[in-house]
Order: sequence, then structure tokens, then C-alpha cells
Amino acid sequence: MNGAAFFLAVNFIIAMSFALAFAVVSTRSRSRASALWFAAAFAVASLSALCELLVAYTHPAKFWAIGAFATVLAGMILLRVGIGELYGRKIDPLKAACFLSGGIFLDLLIYDLPRGTALHAFSYQTPFALVIFASAVAVLSSTRRLMIDRALGCLLLVTCLHFFAKASLAILVGAGTTAKDYIHTNYGLISQSSTAVLVVAVGLTLLSVLVLEIMADERSNAEKDSLSGLANRVGFENGVKAAMALAPNDRHALILCDLDHFKSINDTFGHHVGDLVIQAFGDLLRANTENSVVVGRIGGEEFAVFMPNTTSEIAALFAQLLRGEVTEIAVSELPSSFTVMASFGVAEFAPGEKLASVMRAADAALYEAKRSGRNCVRQARTRGTEPAAIKIMK
Ligand code: GH3
Ligand code: MG
Ligand code: MG
Repeated sequence: MNGAAFFLAVNFIIAMSFALAFAVVSTRSRSRASALWFAAAFAVASLSALCELLVAYTHPAKFWAIGAFATVLAGMILLRVGIGELYGRKIDPLKAACFLSGGIFLDLLIYDLPRGTALHAFSYQTPFALVIFASAVAVLSSTRRLMIDRALGCLLLVTCLHFFAKASLAILVGAGTTAKDYIHTNYGLISQSSTAVLVVAVGLTLLSVLVLEIMADERSNAEKDSLSGLANRVGFENGVKAAMALAPNDRHALILCDLDHFKSINDTFGHHVGDLVIQAFGDLLRANTENSVVVGRIGGEEFAVFMPNTTSEIAALFAQLLRGEVTEIAVSELPSSFTVMASFGVAEFAPGEKLASVMRAADAALYEAKRSGRNCVRQARTRGTEPAAIKIMK
């Protein structure tokens, strides 16, 4: 087996391995359709290596030569379809089919032209370059703008240019007199090895895009409370850290809320009704807060609201508003005479103060609200080495 034939075999194994990897990733990815398109793209393109080998060693060479061209082009078009799904830049299937047919027709037209001429070399490589260019444009013009997306877009541009470089090289060093010669030329060796490198780079980058997406989804699920749909304690703490990093020198406030006599709701009406009340309270918090506010369910019937760039006084007024809204919560399984109530503790971050310390202050204020008869708001005024003093709000 000569060098180019060896690379053809390697390319076949690499492309099939990627096809398998994408099929596996599709079982866990939210971009399932894209992953399956990519799997199909690599599987179809891998057939071109087999066709190239058959060109060299069987007859009729023309059939397998056209097959090699068609499978690479079809694989690239499938790649473009998958990228269109992933990056919100879908293509018309009819146009894709026309482009494939046009490419194959062009390849038939130039088949008997002398190899190594500009007309043959550029006519052969241009359809590949155009499809990959369309993929690069789809990635670079999409709203997904992570580093990995930029890297993929740039890599696709390099791959596009590499087809023109291959055409130029074919003219310079020759690509054999016939399709059968290709595999025995230095050009064939360089062409197959450069393609192998780019196939691996594009395949790995696409896999990284999908795997990073899966990791982000897993992380967001791990930080979410499934009952209320709000952040859980970890998600809340991470959300606060991120919000504080954006404005470390601003004044921020924290509200802790705890549903009153919640155990008796469970005991009297059942755990399911308790769950519905938790959901309704979560909905209420979501409906009354802007995106910049971090809201979480940090315990059984305990919730936290981080208000960036907000003083304790404003946060306490907001808590009063919430307190009134809670009494309006209507859960169909509860008797209409039943009123859901909650108590609130409010604290403001001192400059440089950590969340854990403000949590303690707000918790002390919440405890005071409970002690004062519940269904009310209490505000922590000062804290430090002394126990938190509580500002009473009617
Ligand atoms: P207080 O007014 O002092 O806050 O009294 P409480 O009854 O609300 O507080 P307590 O801490 O005694 O009871 C809280 C209850 O919340 C106990 C627990 O079974 C219940 N709980 C915790 N998580 C869930 C949940 O996910 N669903 C339901 N239905 N109940 C829960
Ligand atoms: Mg409670
Ligand atoms: Mg509680």
C-alpha cells in the first residue's frame, strides 16, 4: 500500500469514528438533529476514501472517481445542513439537492480534461470550497458567539481556502494524467494528509461545540429547582456571585422569604397542595422580578431574592409588596377562605461583605418577623460583632 492509499484508509477510519461519535453524542444532546446530520455527513464522506481506492485498483475508474467526488460533496452538504440546524441558518433542501447535482454534473464535464490544468483543478475543488464557505458564513453570522463557535468559523474558512491551495498545488506539481494515477502521485499524498488533518480538526471542534452544550445544560439542571423552576441554593449563590462581580461597588440587598405555617398546609391539605403553593410562590417571585434580580428556592419553603443596586429600604418596600401579593395566591385545591402568608427578612450588603454574612443578617430579620406574629417584613439595620438589630416595619 503506498502513502496516499494509506492516508485514504486512515481517512476512512477517522471519518467513520467521527460518525459513530456524533451518533453517540446525539443521544444526550439537545441539538440531536444536528448531531445526527453530522454523523451522516462523516459516514457519507468516509465512502469517498473507499471510492478513491477502487478508482486505483478496479474498473470502471470513471464510476468510482465520480463516486469519490459525489460522496465528499454530499458529506459536506450534510455538514452544512447540520450546521444550519445548530446555528439557526437552515438551508433549503431543494437548493442543496440542486447544488449536489450541479457539482456532479460539473465533475462529469471536466472528467476527461487534462489533470493539473487550472480549468480542471479549480473546477474540481470549487464546489467543495463553496459549501464549506457557506458553513463558515452560517457559523460566523449566527447569534452563537462563544470562543469555540468563532474557532469553528475560522477553521471552516481555512478549510475552504485549503481547497484552492490544493487546486494550485495540482497545477504546480501535477495530479497524474488520469484519475487512476492520482493515488500514486505526491499530490495525492499531500492532498489526503492535509484533508485528514482538517477533517480531524473540524470533527473535534464540532464535537466540542456539542459536548460544551451538553455540559452547560447539565450544569443549568444541577442549579435548578425542579418544583418551582427557580434556581436552587447552588444556582442562587452562583447567580449572586456573577451579579456582584458585574457591580462590586454598588449597594445590593437581599430578601429572605419563608412561607408561614407551611407544615400545617401539608398536614391539613396534603403534600401535593403544599407543592402547589410552593410553585405558586415561585411564579409570583418570577413575575415580580426583573432579569437582573437573582431569585432562588434555597430550602423547603424558603426563598431568597438578591436585588442588585438596591438599598435595604427599597428592598423592604418590595418585600411589603410581595407580602401583599402572597395573600392573593389562589390554589384551586385550597378553600377560598384560606390565605397563604409569608414572612420576610431584608438586609443590605455592607461594602465588601460576603453573601453568607448578609444571609445571616437577613435570616435574623426573618426570625424576628416570625417572632412578631408572621405575615410581616423585618429589616436588619446593623451587624458586625453584635447580634443583628432589627428595624421594625408595620
Ligand atoms: P413557620 O411559619 O415557622 O415557618 O412554620 P412552617 O410550618 O412553615 O415551618 P416548618 O419548618 O415547621 O415546616 C416546613 C415544612 O415544609 C416541613 C416540610 O415537610 C415542608 N416541606 C419542605 N419541602 C417541601 C416540599 O418540597 N413540598 C412540600 N409540600 N412540603 C415541603
Ligand atoms: Mg415556614
Ligand atoms: Mg422554613
